[in-house]
Amino acid sequence: MVLTDTHTHQYYETDSVKKDEVIQRCISNGVSRLFLPNVDSSSIAQVMDMVNRYPQNCFAMMGLHPCDVKANWEEELEVIYAALQQNKVYAVGEIGIDLYWDKTFISEQQEAFRQQIGWAKAAGLPINIHCRNAFDEVYEVLTEQHDDKLRGIFHCFSGTLEHANKIIDLDFKLGIGGVVTYKNAGLDKVVEQIDLKHVVLETDSPYLTPVPFRGKPNESSYLVHVAQKVADLHRTSIEAVAEITTENSKTIFGV
Ligand SMILES: [Zn+2]
Repeated sequence: MVLTDTHTHQYYETDSVKKDEVIQRCISNGVSRLFLPNVDSSSIAQVMDMVNRYPQNCFAMMGLHPCDVKANWEEELEVIYAALQQNKVYAVGEIGIDLYWDKTFISEQQEAFRQQIGWAKAAGLPINIHCRNAFDEVYEVLTEQHDDKLRGIFHCFSGTLEHANKIIDLDFKLGIGGVVTYKNAGLDKVVEQIDLKHVVLETDSPYLTPVPFRGKPNESSYLVHVAQKVADLHRTSIEAVAEITTENSKTIFGV
């Protein structure tokens, strides 16, 4: 079984012994493909360290996280763009709009999102979208930028079925994570109605830890609990979920 964690910040673990242990636990659980998005200029080196240490298992994404779009966003974009040119990168991300924490930089967030979509188009890369309390704003930029090549993942999807269908119509995949295991989140009801050909899996570790480890820091090896929940919802096996979601991830990332 090959499970693909399409969005993990596993690189926040900086202790090299613990890093090795986590990767071993991932591999024993079948989670052998990890896609790592930086969030800002200072996390680029952490991503590249993981990718260089575990080249069979770890793949880089580069972008400026919407929560890190601050007054210095243009300088941040310059540094991240240089990293995108210099390294083997499989997606531009995570990028998008987040109006949950702070709306101060909403127009800068939109502009940074647009510019980074432009990078993805120029390089033929997919995008990994962070969208929180901002579906309409993200959707507006995406419909305006949409062409037959732009593709990607709505990371940590937790919206309604109507939102899911709009995303699917744009030919994007839904990144499903630990929220699907939460009893009162309602995401389970949405996921059971979505064809698995539109789904990829993710942990977003160290955040959004799935049941039964909710409350503890998340790690990529826990992706099995997300995969099992999705399998239960679709009345199929975890192996079948692993196969189709990994295949979907390969379609998106080209690896
Ligand atoms: Zn993230």
